[in-house]
Amino acid sequence: MDIGPHRFYSKFEEVNAWWKRMLPDENSDGERVLLKKNRFTRILFRGKFFDYPVKLNAATFENLGLLETLKVGGSYFKSLLFKRDENSLEDFFVNRFGRKLYSMFFESYTEKVWGRHPKKISPEWGAQRVKGLSGVAVLKNMFDKFFHRTPRKVETALADTFYYPKFGSGQMWEVTARESARNGAQILLNSKVTQIHRKADGTIEGVTCLRDGEKFFVPCDVLLSSMPLKDLVAGMNGVPVEIQAIAEGLPYRNYIIVGVAVDKLNLNVPDHWVYVQGSDVKMGRFVVFNNWSSAMLNDEKTFWIGLEYFCREGDELWTSSDDKLAALATSELLKKNLITAADEVKDFHVERVRKAYPAYFDTYERIDELRNFLDESANLFCIGRNGQHRYNNIDHSMCTAFEAVKDILSGTVDKSNVWGVNPEAV
Ligand SMILES: Cc1cc2nc3c(=O)[nH]c(=O)nc-3n(C[C@H](O)[C@H](O)[C@H](O)COP(=O)(O)OP(=O)(O)OC[C@H]3O[C@@H](n4cnc5c(N)ncnc54)[C@H](O)[C@@H]3O)c2cc1C
Repeated sequence: MDIGPHRFYSKFEEVNAWWKRMLPDENSDGERVLLKKNRFTRILFRGKFFDYPVKLNAATFENLGLLETLKVGGSYFKSLLFKRDENSLEDFFVNRFGRKLYSMFFESYTEKVWGRHPKKISPEWGAQRVKGLSGVAVLKNMFDKFFHRTPRKVETALADTFYYPKFGSGQMWEVTARESARNGAQILLNSKVTQIHRKADGTIEGVTCLRDGEKFFVPCDVLLSSMPLKDLVAGMNGVPVEIQAIAEGLPYRNYIIVGVAVDKLNLNVPDHWVYVQGSDVKMGRFVVFNNWSSAMLNDEKTFWIGLEYFCREGDELWTSSDDKLAALATSELLKKNLITAADEVKDFHVERVRKAYPAYFDTYERIDELRNFLDESANLFCIGRNGQHRYNNIDHSMCTAFEAVKDILSGTVDKSNVWGVNPEAV
C-alpha cells in the first residue's frame, strides 16, 4: 500500500539491514538514500499543539490552563486508585490515562479511525499501539530525558527516530521490485487474484488472475498470500460454510488522503504528522509532506499537506467525488486556522485505499478457526497485514514473509512462527 508517508522504524535487525541494502545511504548514487529523521509529531487540540503521545508536562498544563489541569490530574489519580473492569477499549484507556485525558485525546480519534465508539471495542485491541504507554510510562520517559538518563525502554509508539526513503515510501518497493526482477522474479502488475484453487487435501494448485478483462491461471508450488483474508477465502473453493462466514464478517476501514497545495500556512508546522482531536472536523490527522523529504517536492516554496480520512466502504466519504473531498479538506484547513481563505488552495490530489485498516471486531474473535482451516493447506502462507488480518506495521509484515521463507526452505509446515511475529497485536 504505502501511499502517504510511512515511518520506517524497526527493532528487528534483519529488517533494518534489508532496508539499508535496498537504500544504502552511503556509497550510493545519491538517489537510493534512506534518510534518518527525528520524529516530530504533535496533537492539535482546541487550537493548540500538544506533544504526541500526550505528556503530563509543563507545556501540556500551560495549554490546558489551571482548571483543566486539575481535572486531568484528579481523574488520573482516581484512575490509579479505582481500576475499572476492562470490558471495553474505553475502560482500557480510562484505567491508564484517567477519564479526562481519555475524553480529550483518545475518544473522538478512536471513533474516527475505527468507526466505533471505544465503548464498543474490545479492550485487547489497545494492546499493540498503547501497551506500556500508560500515564506512568509517559512520565518515566519524560523524567529520564530531563535527567539525561537512557530511557529504560523505548516503546514503538515513542521511538524518536525513523528512516524515510528520499523519494517517498514507495521508493523502497520500486527498488525492491527492480532488484527482484534482476534476480529473476516475474512481477505481474495490475493483475487481480480472483480465485484460489484448493485441492481436497488442502494443497493450493494455483490462482486465477484478472488483467485487462482477461483471466489467466498461474500454477504454484507455494502460495504466499498478502491479500485480505476476506478476499482470499471468498475466492477459494472447498471452504466450509462456517469458515466462509468468519472471513465474510471480518471488518476493515478504508483510508483517503487528500493532498492540498498552498503557498503558506498560518501556523508553524515542522511536524511529520499532526493528530487532530475533536469532532468538529472529519480529518483524523494531517501530514506535512515537505517535512518528510524535500526531494519529493517540485517546488520547495509550496506546502503539500495531506489530510487523512478514515471511512467505511460505500459510506458518504468513500463515495464523495475528488472535488467534494478537496472542498471538505479546504473547509477543514480553514476551520483549524491553517489557511485564511479557500482560494489559497492552488492544487489538490486524492488517493483512496481499500481495506487499509484490518479491524478487530465482529467475527475477528473467531479468527483462530479461520487460521486453523487455512493452515491445513501445507503450501499456503498467510503473510503481511491484511494477509493475517493483523494490525502489523511494515517491519512486522516483512518479518512474516521472512519467517514464511525460512519455513519453505526448511520444509516446516507448522506456521506458528509466521503467525507469531507480532504477538502483541493479537
Ligand atoms: C494510513 C497508514 C499509515 C501507516 N503508517 C505506517 C508507518 O508509518 N510505519 C509502518 O511501519 N507501517 C505503517 N502502516 C502500515 C503499513 O502500511 C503496512 O504494515 C504494510 O503496508 C503492510 O504490507 P503488506 O505487504 O502486508 O500489505 P500492502 O502494503 O497493503 O500490500 C498488499 C498488496 O496486495 C494487493 N492486493 C490485494 N488484493 C489483491 C488481489 N486480490 N490480487 C492481487 N493483489 C492484491 C494490494 O493492492 C496491495 O498492493 C500504515 C498504514 C496506514 C493505512
